[in-house]
Amino acid sequence: MGTPATNTTDRNYYIQLENELGAHNYKPLDVVLTRGEGVWVWDVEGNRYMDCLSAYSAVNQGHCHPKIMNTLVEQTQKLTLTSRAFRNDQLALFYKDICELTNSHKVLPMNSGAEAVETVIKAVRKWGYQVKGVPEDQAEVIVCENNFHGRTITIVGFSTDQNSRAGFGPFTPGFKIIPFGDADALQSAITPNTVAFLVEPIQGEAGVIIPPKGYLQEVRSICDANNVVLVLDEIQTGLGRTGKLLAEEHENIEADLTLIGKALSGGYYPVSAVLSNKEVLGVLRPGEHGSTFGGNPLACAIARTAVKVLVEEKMTENAALMGEYFLNELKKLNNPKIKEVRGKGLMLGVEFLEDAGGARAYCEKLMHNGLLCKETHESIIRFAPPLVITKQEIDWALERIGPILSR
Ligand SMILES: *Cc1c(COP(=O)(O)O)cnc(C)c1O
Repeated sequence: MGTPATNTTDRNYYIQLENELGAHNYKPLDVVLTRGEGVWVWDVEGNRYMDCLSAYSAVNQGHCHPKIMNTLVEQTQKLTLTSRAFRNDQLALFYKDICELTNSHKVLPMNSGAEAVETVIKAVRKWGYQVKGVPEDQAEVIVCENNFHGRTITIVGFSTDQNSRAGFGPFTPGFKIIPFGDADALQSAITPNTVAFLVEPIQGEAGVIIPPKGYLQEVRSICDANNVVLVLDEIQTGLGRTGKLLAEEHENIEADLTLIGKALSGGYYPVSAVLSNKEVLGVLRPGEHGSTFGGNPLACAIARTAVKVLVEEKMTENAALMGEYFLNELKKLNNPKIKEVRGKGLMLGVEFLEDAGGARAYCEKLMHNGLLCKETHESIIRFAPPLVITKQEIDWALERIGPILSR
C-alpha cells in the first residue's frame, strides 16, 4: 500500500488496507465511519447516515452519549484495572445498581456476550452436579434451533447455522437442540440430567423471530416443574430494545439467570453480566471462574452510567412508542416481494420472499440514501436504531425506506 497521511478522507484507502491486512471474517458495507452522535453517524467523506443497526443493539443509548463519555473520561483518570485479586470501589456499586434495576440477587461480570454465555453454561453444569444431583459429566443443556449466542467453540458447537459451525469441530458435548417457540418440544426433550434451557426471548440474529404468545410462560412452568434452570439470553433483547427493560416482561415471567451485554456499556466498552435470581451463581467458588478484565472499575463505572441514562431519559418507554409507530408504518409498505414485517419495540425485521433478489441489495440502496442497515441471512433486513430516536427521525427514515422497499 501507499502511505498517505493518516486521516485521509479517501474511503478506498481504508477499505483496501482492511482488505489487505485484516482477516475477512466480516463483509461490511463499504462505508467508513469516523464520528457519531445520537442516531447519526458520519463517514470520512462527510456524508451523514442514520444508524439503523446500533452495533447490534450495543448503542441503544445513541452514539457517544455525553454522560457516558464523561464517566469514561473521569474514571480513566482515576483507575482502570485492578484485576479481581483486589477490590475496587466501582464493582460493588455496579452490583447494587444492576440488582436494583433488574430485581436480581447476584451478578457475575464479564466482558463480551459470548463470555457471559460460557459463564452461564459452567454455572448451570456445576449447579446440576452439586444441587440437582446429576451424575458427573452427564449434564444436558437444551438450546433452540437458529439460536445465536456468540462465537466460541462451545457456543458454535450448538449452533444450527452451518456458516457458524462448519469446519470448527470437534465441539463440546452436552447440548440438545429443539425447535424455537415450541414448548411441547421442550417438555419432551427434558431428562433427569437436564440442567438448563438456554433461549433468546426473541431470536435476533435469526431475523427477529418472535415466538408464539404464551411461549415464555409455558417454558417457565415446564422449567419449574422439572427443576430446570431457565436462562434467557437478553444480550440483544435486553436493556430497552423491545420496549421493556427485559423482554421477559412482555410475558410477565422471571428467568432464573439472565444474560446481558451489548448496551450495558452504551457502546463504550465490552461489558456483560450474568444476573441470577435463583442461587445458581452461588455454586461458584474462588478460583473456579474469572476474567482479568471482568468487573474492572472502568467497565463498572461506564455500565452504571449507561443504565442510569437509559432509565433517566426514558429510552425504554421511547422504544415502545417509537417502535410501534415505526412498525405500523413499515407494515404499510406495498411490495409483493415483502413476506412479513414484524417486531417488538425497536427490534424490527422486514422479510422478503426468497426470489426478491436478497436483502443485501436493499441495504446497499438504503446506504446510498443515508440509512445504515444490515441484512440478516439472505432475506431479512433488521431495523434497530438507537432508542433515542424521535418521531421526526423515523419519518426521515421512512421517506427514504418507502421508495426503496416499495419496489
Ligand atoms: C451479540 C449476541 C451474543 C454475543 O455477544 P458478543 O459480545 O458478540 O460475544 C450473544 N447472544 C446474543 C443474543 C447476541 O445478540
